[in-house]
Amino acid sequence: MPDRSLHDIAHPHVITVTPATPLQEALSRMESERISCLVVVDEGYRPVGIFTEQDAVHMVAGGRFDGAQAISGVMTHPVQALPGNMEYHDAFQLMSNAGHRHLVVVDDQGRLAGIASETDFYHHLSVEYLAELKTVAAAMRLDVPTLAEDTDLAEASRIMAARRQGCVVVVRGDHAVGILTERDIVRLAREVEDPNTVKVAAVMRFPLLSVAPDSPLQEATRLMDSRATRRLVVIDEGRLVGLITRHDIALALETRHLEYLIETVERQQVELTKVRQQATDLALIRDQHIQLQVLMHAFDASANAIVITDASAKILWTNPAFSRLSGYDLTEVMGHTPGELLRSGQQDQPFYKHLWDTILSGQVWHGELVNKNKSGQLYHEELTITPVRVGGSEITHFIAIKQDITQRKHMESELRESQLLFASVANSVPALIWMTGPTPGCTWFNESWLAFTGRTLEQETGYGWTAHIHPEDLPGRLKKFNDGFEARQAYALEYRLRRHDGEYRWMLGQARPRLDASGQFAGYIGSCLDVTEHKNLQLELARLASTDFLTGLSNRRHFLEQMDITLARFHRHGPNTALIMLDLDHFKRVNDDYGHAAGDEALRHFSELIRTTSRRVDLQGRLGGEEFAILMPDTTGEGAMEYAERLRQALESNPPRIGERSIPLTLSAGVTAFDAADASVDSILLRADDALYQAKRLGRNRVETIKI
Ligand code: GH3
Ligand code: MG
Ligand code: MG
Repeated sequence: MPDRSLHDIAHPHVITVTPATPLQEALSRMESERISCLVVVDEGYRPVGIFTEQDAVHMVAGGRFDGAQAISGVMTHPVQALPGNMEYHDAFQLMSNAGHRHLVVVDDQGRLAGIASETDFYHHLSVEYLAELKTVAAAMRLDVPTLAEDTDLAEASRIMAARRQGCVVVVRGDHAVGILTERDIVRLAREVEDPNTVKVAAVMRFPLLSVAPDSPLQEATRLMDSRATRRLVVIDEGRLVGLITRHDIALALETRHLEYLIETVERQQVELTKVRQQATDLALIRDQHIQLQVLMHAFDASANAIVITDASAKILWTNPAFSRLSGYDLTEVMGHTPGELLRSGQQDQPFYKHLWDTILSGQVWHGELVNKNKSGQLYHEELTITPVRVGGSEITHFIAIKQDITQRKHMESELRESQLLFASVANSVPALIWMTGPTPGCTWFNESWLAFTGRTLEQETGYGWTAHIHPEDLPGRLKKFNDGFEARQAYALEYRLRRHDGEYRWMLGQARPRLDASGQFAGYIGSCLDVTEHKNLQLELARLASTDFLTGLSNRRHFLEQMDITLARFHRHGPNTALIMLDLDHFKRVNDDYGHAAGDEALRHFSELIRTTSRRVDLQGRLGGEEFAILMPDTTGEGAMEYAERLRQALESNPPRIGERSIPLTLSAGVTAFDAADASVDSILLRADDALYQAKRLGRNRVETIKI
């Protein structure tokens, strides 16, 4: 194997800093460049120190971290710099011995030329090893002793002894049909009475375990391991062509790359010369063989499918994961290209052209594609192809690492579908829907929301949506929103939201925390519905429940309720309050003379008169038939007397009319003021009633009061 130098391995692009660079700055360089080490150079671009992530970790751990200090104070120095033309195995040995993970490479003037990491070395070493795998043909022995089936056991023993072979193969023509080993002979010698009368066909072992000559050696090793045997026959197109034993494999693998395995992978300090001298030492070879097997097992156990091809893409080796993925055994794929076997027709020509252009130019290709397995099923694969140059500048091999991503693709498309489903459901409902992430601020609104407000998603995102909440409702709305986040509880509220036409509409909103797939709090989802019509209806119902149908004044129930509230307030704050009770005089006659409808009209006329003459704060009620009352806050008994008198005169001078005819109508009024001794509204009503009775008694069309 031609030697390679450090130059071939080192990266020429090194991130450098000057010795005066503050540590803080150096670290942020490392972070932004995603590198694990920096080289500190002097003004002549000579490496004077090296600083690694590990150094930083140690400093932090030791409590010695000071971002302002110069890197020269904390870097590792002096640097062990090696010339670029040094053979890289030697360089690796030096680096390993020193316990370093990076190696600084310099040119012949001592200037920084590159850097090589432990990973770079391992990459090259393993590629070298993989690419050098040999086939059974290279290691098998050709001089296989054979016997015909009718040979007797005594003769077989003699041939075996004469040929100094551990076994003989039993053949029928060109075809191997069984095998007999020394161990079998030893056993049979005890069991068989006369070896001259026993034919080998009766005692041989069969069926035979075989490999093809072009199988990789490791496949032979694997077969031997799994069947616990030490030898296999080599069969080519049905014909016996050789025999291979564990011993043969161990010998065949005694080449320089095996030494590297010992040196590098196992880091054994075995001198090269010593290994060569002891090459015939079977014990050592067995050790090497075991180490090789460990590595093979690692590849075999890999969950990723691994395919190694030659430069023309013909498959040399695959691991068991590849067989699981593709359905093909190694023996079926060797010598074929992956394309011949797996091509699904799902990718077009330019796709493959790009792939080939990439790897033929020496670059790694990485991508996803759809392939077809042996049983014709399509599957998604993630593929990385690395071109490998062994011993020169020409690409000699490709290593492909494959991963089955069918499941992932399936899940991705399911996820996309469920997202689409969610969006279409969310957009097809009349409710206005919003969502947040785990931190406050909205991240999503459905189409109904955006159509309602007439704004864009960008405008509404974050706290944009608060812009068109009614100013009176905004503090409450925000409080719910923010408290909700704190408590992670569901909540509901009503608020007014401005529609795109500028009109505020009543919304019934509700929100609740939502969880992600792992049950963690993921934010809030909320919806609201335009309930303006309901709200108006509700207000109207409340109004109707408290209103007298004929006159539109408060009904008796509502009037008495309000009086209760007013009395409570009067007891607390004490401003003057007065009550007027009114009864229309001789109203029976109105009905009798003009008819009931005219009576009703007269009641409405009088109500209107009360409404227009009293203040906004006064409460006017119809307590029954033609009895009315007025509750007057902030009014003394005298004040109420004056008003009642004005109302009396107003009715007298402004009677109800039916067409051209006016209906003469007068009222009697009883007035009283609230008193601190009034425990309930009853005593007030009673006094006002007494006063009214007095007005009636004294001739009607007058106002009376009862003072306390
Ligand atoms: P007084 O001066 O003593 O109050 O005489 P009055 O006729 O008003 O006597 P009273 O209060 O006993 O009678 C009230 C009358 O009002 C009885 C009824 O015919 C009439 N009335 C009560 N409610 C209505 C109503 O809703 N519509 C009409 N048109 N008349 C009503
Ligand atoms: Mg009356
Ligand atoms: Mg009456």
